[in-house]
Amino acid sequence: MTALLPNFFAGRWQTGTDAGTPLFDPVLGTELARVSSSGIDLAEGFAFAREQGGAALRAMRYGQRAAMLSQIVEVLQANRDAYYEIATANSGTVAKDSGVDIDGAIFTLGYYAKQGAALGDATLLLDGERIRMAKDPAFQTQHIQVPTHGVALFINAFNFPSWGLWEKAAPALLSGVPVIIKPATATAWLTQRMVKDVVDAGVLPVGALSVICGSSAGLMDQLQAFDVVSFTGSAETGRIIRSHRAVTELSVRCNIEADSLNSALLSPDATADSEAFKLLVAEVAREMTVKSGQKCTAIRRIFVPRALYQATAQAIGARLAKTSVGNPRNESVRMGALVSQEQKASVLAGLAQLKTEATVLYDGNAAPLVDADASSACVAPVLLGTESPMSAQVLHAVEVFGPVSTLMPYDSINEAYTMIRRGEGSLVCSVYSEDPTFTAQASVALASSHGRVHAVSPDVATLHSGHGNVMPMSLHGGPGRAGGGEELGGLRALNFYHRRSAVQGSALALDQLAAQGAKLPL
Ligand code: NAP
Repeated sequence: MTALLPNFFAGRWQTGTDAGTPLFDPVLGTELARVSSSGIDLAEGFAFAREQGGAALRAMRYGQRAAMLSQIVEVLQANRDAYYEIATANSGTVAKDSGVDIDGAIFTLGYYAKQGAALGDATLLLDGERIRMAKDPAFQTQHIQVPTHGVALFINAFNFPSWGLWEKAAPALLSGVPVIIKPATATAWLTQRMVKDVVDAGVLPVGALSVICGSSAGLMDQLQAFDVVSFTGSAETGRIIRSHRAVTELSVRCNIEADSLNSALLSPDATADSEAFKLLVAEVAREMTVKSGQKCTAIRRIFVPRALYQATAQAIGARLAKTSVGNPRNESVRMGALVSQEQKASVLAGLAQLKTEATVLYDGNAAPLVDADASSACVAPVLLGTESPMSAQVLHAVEVFGPVSTLMPYDSINEAYTMIRRGEGSLVCSVYSEDPTFTAQASVALASSHGRVHAVSPDVATLHSGHGNVMPMSLHGGPGRAGGGEELGGLRALNFYHRRSAVQGSALALDQLAAQGAKLPL
């Protein structure tokens, strides 16, 4: 039996009291470590974070907290090799895909360190301008934002054990709010190791960052009125979080990032030899294979003019055929495994569901795996398609969290928009066009149902950040089924960890506030 990973809770390392849940290598099947939160005093840990961690963070200025983020970057960079090894073993990812998680986290922390430094010595944020409340300007109102006096509980998904922690922790810590992270069990090792390195380096005040691995039982029960909870995971668990008493009765602020049927849209005037067509094909193939399609932002539905249906299927299939799948330790492998046998079973079950309405246009599973058994958690890319997407139900409703996407033709652009909106709210839609007027019109048409519209045209072909890459300066989240949450978006992310209050009073008192505050540069 492997060792239990200790939890850092209530300012000390604590090991669960039962045998724990094992974490596995999804390619080799070997047990790597165990996690358990059994026997841990949750109330003590939440109170410690709230009181010790929160007070210490709030005593600092934004600039000082930003400097702490820079120090976290240094710690993570110093241990980067170890993180890559853990990712290979526990997530089954090739180095490039591990980088999306690990280096993506470091980049995001660095971004917030820089943005936060610009807030300097401020201790609060000024929200908008002063507004006169009476004829006499002596009485005015100023909206301010101050850090909430609670903890931020993060309940995270398995697919981004590194980025998922730091993209939330960077704005929380910069705001002055202590963090308790509960990583998904299957890949908890990387999160736990990163927290351990940062704690051991003594970069943060004790209580500012805690990690609890293993069961989620009882965590939500600990939340109090000024705490916040940020959840990333399935729509099903999202419903449990959203309906918990802490949220419904105590108004604990709750951010949910759930599943999403993201789309790619090719413009109606594209041809099979147009740049827009080539850019869509390349991006779809990339999105299907990066992290084996286990990205919440991955392209699940592809909409092309009907005349290009066959050509698109062939071109994407030809690209996917170059993707060797198997053991990420073998340098010839381009795509590793799914994170677990459970995910493999879930992807295969989801594929079977989609196949009730779609045919297989390309299936990489015919090719042998490289250095991996059929019993491993490897699944090759599968492109599905239907020529009757308007009458489909399942294809617009079931998210298969793996290297699977479905091609659908449209007869008019409004039909395409209608089908895209049948995803009931998604994180991102990418638009491929050489016509800026169409791109602008499509962006407006799609913006109300998407957190992000990613427009790709030949002039940004080598510059754009990628359909599925979540960049800290842009909003991440989506309406409706995507959870209705908002993360990142530059300093907008600080809103979630602050409380807005309207201070009405003498201009003299407001002058004092202005001297302590920084204007949010939005
Ligand atoms: P999940 O089963 O809902 O688990 C997510 C997290 O919730 C895990 O930490 C899990 O812990 C915990 N959890 C499970 N039951 C809970 C409960 N009753 N109360 C509190 N916490 C509970 O989701 P998943 O399968 O790991 O993640 C895949 C899904 O996440 C996909 O649908 C994907 O679209 C979505 N996702 C969305 C985003 C986004 O940003 N929108 C990003 C990544 C993934 P255990 O692991 O210990 O069960």
